[in-house]
Amino acid sequence: MPDRQTPPEVDRVAASRRAVAARRERAALKRDVTMRVITPQELLRRALADPAAPAGAMRVTEFLTSIPAIGEGKRDRILAELGISPVKRLGGLGARQRRALERFLDDRFPEQEPRGGRSSLVVLAGPTAVGKGTVATYIKEHHPEILLSVSATTRAPRPGEVDGEHYYFVDDAEFDRMIAGGELLEYATVHNKFRYGTPRGPIMKALEQGRTVLLEIDLQGARQVRAAEPSATLVFLLPPSWDELVQRLVGRGTEGPEERARRLRTAKVELAAQNEFDYRVVNDNVASAAQEVVELAQAPARPLSRA
Ligand code: 5GP
Repeated sequence: MPDRQTPPEVDRVAASRRAVAARRERAALKRDVTMRVITPQELLRRALADPAAPAGAMRVTEFLTSIPAIGEGKRDRILAELGISPVKRLGGLGARQRRALERFLDDRFPEQEPRGGRSSLVVLAGPTAVGKGTVATYIKEHHPEILLSVSATTRAPRPGEVDGEHYYFVDDAEFDRMIAGGELLEYATVHNKFRYGTPRGPIMKALEQGRTVLLEIDLQGARQVRAAEPSATLVFLLPPSWDELVQRLVGRGTEGPEERARRLRTAKVELAAQNEFDYRVVNDNVASAAQEVVELAQAPARPLSRA
């Protein structure tokens, strides 16, 4: 005789599959916070919006330790201070506990207020493999009113690349000459290999004509532009999730394990720099990410006092 209290085998299998899937989703969300793809506040917002969703089912203990800089000791002190029991799940927090947690996060890990939108010189940067090039090309094709800067580089052209259109392909001596002549707004050695730089002349001319100029450059270059032109608008392109970035980075399967590990380490360091930027745009869809960048680029200049 079957026992009435025990659910049939099929139900138990389905339930355990669902539990495994939910655990996996929670783990992915924790990685997103650890890698700074989303802020802790964003995860909390998702949990409160839908307590039954994976974010809502996450324990406060797991949530806190996913934040870089919070270990288990610190976590327990924080929970005691906020008056939150360690067995609580994010979706089950009471109103007072929510507010206490939100205040704590805003105080310790402030979400960045946009500072920019001040100049029509726009820099698009982001971690390796996030799709900066694709977004920039999309903008170039759909918004001819925006000038996409053509960089100089010492690397050789790839098949299909045209000199003067994709890059100015130059040798080391020519690159040195451009630096010495003050012709580059910024330049950097990328991936420890070749040099890349932004020619200053065409950009200044376009800006004088009132055009918007877009630079798709690496992080070192973005920092130099910020230093040279503090009013530039810096946009950081984010992957939809850490797992998605890993997929894009390693998905091609063309790199060995060492190169893959190196790229992942680089991406992690790059993501940690996002707070230096004025805006963050998530690249979950090329057309809509491009549209967001264009809107930020064409937003009316704001007075500096609001910066
Ligand atoms: P690729 O060789 O694949 O075309 O580009 C490699 C990297 O160089 C990309 O991350 C791109 O953002 C960066 N890059 C391209 N042009 C410039 C530039 O003018 N300055 C800097 N700093 N980085 C650049």
